[in-house]
Amino acid sequence: MQNPFPVSDSELIKLINSFLLWQNSTPKEQEWINKNQKRNARYKKTLLNKKFIEDSSEHKLHKEIFDYSRTLDGPAIIRLGIPRLKGEQSRIKSNLLYIIDSTDDLFLKIHNVIEGKYNIPLYKRAFWTPLLNIAYPNNAPNWNNKTQNFFSLFGIDLETKKKTVSEKYRIISEAFKYLQSLNSKLDFLLIDHLMHYATTVPRGENQIFDIIPDKEFQESIQDVRQYTKEIKGLSKGPIKRGKPVENISSISFPRKPARSAKALKNANYTCEENVKHKTFIQEKNSKHFFEAHHLIPMKAQGDIENDIDRPENIVSLCPNCHRAIEKLKLKQRKEMVEKFYEIRKNKLEKIGVIMSIDKLLSYYNI
Ligand SMILES: [Zn+2]
Repeated sequence: MQNPFPVSDSELIKLINSFLLWQNSTPKEQEWINKNQKRNARYKKTLLNKKFIEDSSEHKLHKEIFDYSRTLDGPAIIRLGIPRLKGEQSRIKSNLLYIIDSTDDLFLKIHNVIEGKYNIPLYKRAFWTPLLNIAYPNNAPNWNNKTQNFFSLFGIDLETKKKTVSEKYRIISEAFKYLQSLNSKLDFLLIDHLMHYATTVPRGENQIFDIIPDKEFQESIQDVRQYTKEIKGLSKGPIKRGKPVENISSISFPRKPARSAKALKNANYTCEENVKHKTFIQEKNSKHFFEAHHLIPMKAQGDIENDIDRPENIVSLCPNCHRAIEKLKLKQRKEMVEKFYEIRKNKLEKIGVIMSIDKLLSYYNI
């Protein structure tokens, strides 16, 4: 099995161990697991049980689906009110029977119920994947917003329209199995909770921040002198984006250190959030240490024809602010992104990159 994440096994193991420690030492988290195990056991006997579905009255089935939908994360619960459920009940019923009964493989099933011939508008992955997980506990992961956010931290884009739902689901499933291969205590339910830990619990977020593959890059851009030639040759107008690098689970566009080095120089080695922010002085060039942050993140490059790895799109930040713009609570993060957007908007237009603030915020999961 190949590691689908761009970090080493030992770093993943560290993350898993710290998650398990947190999980085992926090009663509330153990409760979460118990509650979900119970939930899964209940629906295995009902919604994933052919006899129950065929023998139950419409009313009884309705109640069971409704109760199930109340256990789902996020906006799915709000949208799936009673009237809507009544209108779709016969289609939901036939999809459940399809999941239970058909010999189609898992990935064809998820294709059919989410984007293929059996799709029901509004009943998307948040509704179906927990059920698939009950039907296929060792192959079918839960797929919700936490999953998207977790993968996006590692540069794996699950929102892209360039992959089908079943291709993305296969990526998630393989990645879950890989994590499981690193620690046999993990099952898919725990891994789902690991996503929660890594994307919403401060302790987990910090740990993720330490392992995401950015540190080396930030180190490498500190000395602008080594890039003088490349910087001199930089165009002022739009440049077509470069060639992506493909690995098994994602494509990415490599960042050129010279572009970021130039951005730090343009900012005169200060923090663009607040020039008063001070950092340590580096030995190699006697300059304060600042980091490069791509305002429009490089994961958006696939959606944009012109290169966004340009000083015009790169903000110089102190490590504290860099962490904040990626990790801070929603409101503050939004304010930071909006502020830099106002400052950089015109410069971005000059290099042929036009993006609305709403679109930009969506790349920050805002
Ligand atoms: Zn700062």
